[in-house]
Amino acid sequence: MLPVQQAEQIIFNSVEPLNPERDIEIVDLLEASGRILAQEITSQLDFPHWDNSAMDGYAVRHTDIAECNAKNPAILEIITEIPAGKSPEKSIQPGQAARIFTGAMMPKGADTVVMQEVTQREGNFVTILSASAPQAFVRQKGSYSKAGTPLLSPGINIGATEIAVLASAQCTQIPVYRRPVVAILSTGDELVTPEQTLKPGQLVDSNQYALATLVKQAGAVPQMLGIIPDDPEQLKNAISQALTSADIVISSGGVSVGDYDFVDRILSSLGGEIQIRAIAIKPGKPLTFAKFNLSKDRSPVLYFGLPGNPVSSLVTFWRFVQPAIEKLAGIQDFWQPKFVQAKTRHSLKSDGKRESYLWGQLHLVNGEYEFSLAGGTQNSGNLINLAQTNGLGVLPVGETLVNAGDFVQVLQVKNS
Ligand code: AMP
Ligand code: MG
Repeated sequence: MLPVQQAEQIIFNSVEPLNPERDIEIVDLLEASGRILAQEITSQLDFPHWDNSAMDGYAVRHTDIAECNAKNPAILEIITEIPAGKSPEKSIQPGQAARIFTGAMMPKGADTVVMQEVTQREGNFVTILSASAPQAFVRQKGSYSKAGTPLLSPGINIGATEIAVLASAQCTQIPVYRRPVVAILSTGDELVTPEQTLKPGQLVDSNQYALATLVKQAGAVPQMLGIIPDDPEQLKNAISQALTSADIVISSGGVSVGDYDFVDRILSSLGGEIQIRAIAIKPGKPLTFAKFNLSKDRSPVLYFGLPGNPVSSLVTFWRFVQPAIEKLAGIQDFWQPKFVQAKTRHSLKSDGKRESYLWGQLHLVNGEYEFSLAGGTQNSGNLINLAQTNGLGVLPVGETLVNAGDFVQVLQVKNS
């Protein structure tokens, strides 16, 4: 039984991120949201593209207004008006000003903007009552970013702010990593689909649906392979089919003690290198992790045999599989599990033998995290009180109690 930290190293080190040349696709700008950028984005444009005004006011030569104040104002002739989007036609000579609006291009000759609040206009003349600093309220060409400088790095998640940068750079065809494919199968003679009528002793296959949802949330494409009976031949066929098209294969069930050798043998017979057979985690101990090096042209396919109990399969997904999918998807930073310190509202207990994950809710109260334990039974078969989980309180090996009011590490988990 491997300690959690050792297991995560083995798993995360086995992940080869998608290849920026082979695993790329080009999508339209709006389709890029939620995708991972695969190549650096540069632009031949300066940002701002030209000197422009940050205020509604008057574009002036600073030397004309440098000494002015309310008692000794500067009076300048307004020779032109420059709205946003127009190219200035006249250049500003000594004693002259241009009426200018926010975002409009600065005219030649002018170097400073005076905001209209410190001016009075009479006909074609403006009285300036207060001096601005040199170059005040001018957004200088290239001051945000110079032409040719990288704007976005590969491996970032594309959201609204990145879409804004891409749009501004007039980049409308975006190179992104393809979404990883994650095959999911459930094992168990007792399982039925949510549509089927339950017979005594049967159970609905909830794992398939929960795992598919989490796979989607991690940015991958779930391939749902359905329920596979506890039959070595059928399971072998299903796994071997999954290995042909998926980057990651997840099964749930069939890895607890009695079934162990059975899955082991199938994976080995298909060429899998089994790296992990059990992890000192609660819930989730019986977890099989294997690597398949199927061909030189393909990255290894990773196999996660998650335990069948609904809570165990989700906890181990959050702890090990989700970061693995995100790393594989090409995310450079931030694919690692996210832990925060939180003050627990309830006392948290463990037998101290394995690293224990207790499910509940993380709340942000006055800038501090608090953790509340889900009500009802903390039992790995109880998926009902798992609803609304967004955090897992972690008690390390050897720790048997965290009192209410004390701090605990909480794994933040994506649920919606
Ligand atoms: P197993 O690891 O196959 O022994 O399964 C452990 C427990 O999890 C059993 O009570 C199973 O009925 C239950 N279980 C297994 N697979 C699923 C599933 N796909 N959905 C919900 N419960 C499951
Ligand atoms: Mg089973």
